[in-house]
Amino acid sequence: RGGFVPPIRNNGGSGTTISRVTGKGDDSMEDSTRKCIEMLCGPDGELPEKLRNLEPRLIEHVSNEIMDRDPNVRWNDIAGLEHAKKCVTEMVIWPLLRPDIFRGCRSPGRGLLLFGPPGTGKTMIGKAIAGEAKATFFYISASSLTSKWVSMGNRRLLSKVHGMSKVWWDFVPKNIGEGEKLVRALFGVASCRQPAVIFVDEIDSLLSQRKSDGEHESSRRLKTQFLIEMEGFDSGNEQILLIGATNRPQELDEAARRRLTKRLYIPLPSSEILLHHGCEEARAWIIRNLLEKDGLFMLSEEETSEICKLTEGYSGSDMKNLVKDASMGPLREALQRGVEITKLSKEDMRPVMLKDFENAMQEVRPSVSSSELGTYEEWNKQFGSLS
Ligand code: ADP
Repeated sequence: RGGFVPPIRNNGGSGTTISRVTGKGDDSMEDSTRKCIEMLCGPDGELPEKLRNLEPRLIEHVSNEIMDRDPNVRWNDIAGLEHAKKCVTEMVIWPLLRPDIFRGCRSPGRGLLLFGPPGTGKTMIGKAIAGEAKATFFYISASSLTSKWVSMGNRRLLSKVHGMSKVWWDFVPKNIGEGEKLVRALFGVASCRQPAVIFVDEIDSLLSQRKSDGEHESSRRLKTQFLIEMEGFDSGNEQILLIGATNRPQELDEAARRRLTKRLYIPLPSSEILLHHGCEEARAWIIRNLLEKDGLFMLSEEETSEICKLTEGYSGSDMKNLVKDASMGPLREALQRGVEITKLSKEDMRPVMLKDFENAMQEVRPSVSSSELGTYEEWNKQFGSLS
């Protein structure tokens, strides 16, 4: 896979410029890697202390695959969850915007846990925090750290098929200690991109109490490295927030709970009144918002509230799938009438109706059971931040 890329060398504090990183000019480093490293160098061309001794390819991986400069999600895109939005604004967004006020007694916690059923908007909240606080967003799934493989991105563009690029991803087996190195690179790049939000999805797989045999030693080392990095920015003045998300909060151990000081329950979209969207309920808002984007919203208020009644227990992501399926109804009907797909025009299709949703509900069922909900509520009572 290209030439060998030596690790970044720390030249005894005498500064680490790009040519000094590789030791022999820029030749041994791929162009894309060099660009990434250059962007992280200070105005003097020096690489920040934290990034020295890290492998350039890992810095590149973090910059290209994990860092998202503009997550493009705002509070208004998220239905409901008013309690979470309020807590997060106070705990995270204001301190990131005004670090001068939020110091001393007012200094915020650096760790936030979002827990609840899958598909309820935890990732959206993480992205919205970065968007609202004008912070750089880093997204990593903990399972990608713990897995034996690492994706090194779409470096090789092999061929073009029907005008579409066929992209090959390089999956390379991880060496021993690769996960730890990636964690160091992640926190290192984040500290150069402050204010920063590091979002760790499925954080339970990294900070859980149970460990499968065989993986015990390596996952313990990874966990330790992660906790060390967290400790590092917790004690300093860095503007980095760590957000962990999980569908299995009960798997987290005591050390994880201690570091994730604020723990917010992200429930299913309910009939709460939406402050950000006027008086409407969360599921109704999701339906209207998605259909309106395509100019397909024609449902009456009664029909919308009927759909809401029928979709009790659906998550935000279930609702999205339901709307997708329902919007196919008019298309399927037009085709059944004998209109050819190639000649089909907008006028051949009637608006999306209540019956389309009723049909779609046969296909798209709620993905969370009521017993699972009970588990979350119990955990919330015991460990959640209730106010
Ligand atoms: P999670 O991280 O909780 O598993 P995501 O934030 O990835 O869930 O949500 C998945 C998708 O479901 C989103 O891209 C969005 O389309 C939809 N969704 C989930 N919750 C909401 C919500 N509260 N408001 C609007 N859309 C939502």
